[in-house]
Amino acid sequence: MNRICRLFQNFISIFYPRTCVACGNALLQNESYFCLSCLMQLPETNYHLQESSPLDKIFAGRVPVEKVASMLFFKKGNKAQHILHALKYKGEKGVGCFLGEMYGRQLLKSPYYQSVECIVPIPLHLKKLRMRGYNQSEWIAKGLSNSMNIPYYTNVLVRKEFTETQTRKNRIQRWENVKDVFRTDNVDAIAGKHILICDDVLTTGATLESAITQLLKVKGVKVSVATLAWAG
Ligand SMILES: [Zn+2]
Repeated sequence: MNRICRLFQNFISIFYPRTCVACGNALLQNESYFCLSCLMQLPETNYHLQESSPLDKIFAGRVPVEKVASMLFFKKGNKAQHILHALKYKGEKGVGCFLGEMYGRQLLKSPYYQSVECIVPIPLHLKKLRMRGYNQSEWIAKGLSNSMNIPYYTNVLVRKEFTETQTRKNRIQRWENVKDVFRTDNVDAIAGKHILICDDVLTTGATLESAITQLLKVKGVKVSVATLAWAG
C-alpha cells in the first residue's frame, strides 16, 4: 500500500474504525478482521489431525464420507458465533476467505486432506442470495482454494428452486423434499475426483448429506467435508 493510500485509510478509520469480528475492539493498522488476541485464542477443534473425532460419526450410516472436519467450536456467545454472525449478517464476506485460507494451510498438513483435488461450496437459497448479495460458503471455498492451490467450482452443485406446486405441498411432503434439494451440473469437472465440500456451520449435517448424496452419483467421486464451525 502506498503512503497516500495509508494516509487515506488512517483518515477514514478515524470516522469508521475497523473492528475485530470476534470481539469488536478496534483493529491496529496491520491487523485484518481479527485483533491479535482473538487470533491467538480461536476455539480451534484440530479434528482434521485426529484419526477419529466426534465429527466422523455424524454421517456414519447415512452417506459414505472420507473425512469430516470443522475449524472452530461453535458455542453460544463464543468467538466462533461472533465470527459467523459477521460473515453471514454483517457483510463481512472477506473473513470467510481469510479463515478459509488459514484452514486450507492447516488441512494441507493433515494426512486426510492430501488427496483432495477440488472444492465445492454449498449453494445458498436463491432468496437468501438475493438478500445477502453473496454466498458465504463460496468465500470460504475461495480461501481454501487459495492456500490449497486447487480449484473451486460454483457451477457443479445447484440448489433446486421450488415450484409453486411444491410450496403448496403439506409439511411432511416438504420435509421429504429437503432430502432432495440439490442437483449436479457440469459433472465433467468433478468426475473421478476427491471433492472437498465446504460450508459455514455443521450442525445435524442434513444439508451436507443431501449435497454429498448428489455428488456421489457422479462416477468415481469421493467426498470429504470441511466447515468453518461445528455446532455440536
Ligand atoms: Zn478481537
